[in-house]
Amino acid sequence: MESNSSMYEKLIQEKIAEKGEYGVSQQELAKSIGISTRELSIILKKLIEKKVIQKKTVKENGKSVIKLFAIKTVEKANVYVNLENIKDIPCFSCKLLYKCNNGAHVTPSSCSKLSEWILYLAS
Ligand code: SF4
Repeated sequence: MESNSSMYEKLIQEKIAEKGEYGVSQQELAKSIGISTRELSIILKKLIEKKVIQKKTVKENGKSVIKLFAIKTVEKANVYVNLENIKDIPCFSCKLLYKCNNGAHVTPSSCSKLSEWILYLAS
């Protein structure tokens, strides 16, 4: 069973997210949820620490106002990269890798090993 605190955390998070780019003041939020500003402050502190919401100072009608905003999270996704095609790049096993650079004595543009590998791929 969910505790009151985590239930309020979820509700507050949703209410802040609903306000989107306009944000919401702490007083307005306390009123809409029906809890004291003191209780709200404690929960907001937790949510800020969890980095799911943030406080920002914004200008409204020429006045500076502190508002709460949801922090947008990027969905985590598993990305699979097929290394088959790059594992044979000659640079990975080259003793000259740390000396090789454009404009240096050893350079990719004049490397026969690299050129051969590219031509092999293209064939
Ligand atoms: S380009 Fe040639 S010399 Fe440079 S690191 Fe790759 S294989 Fe080595």
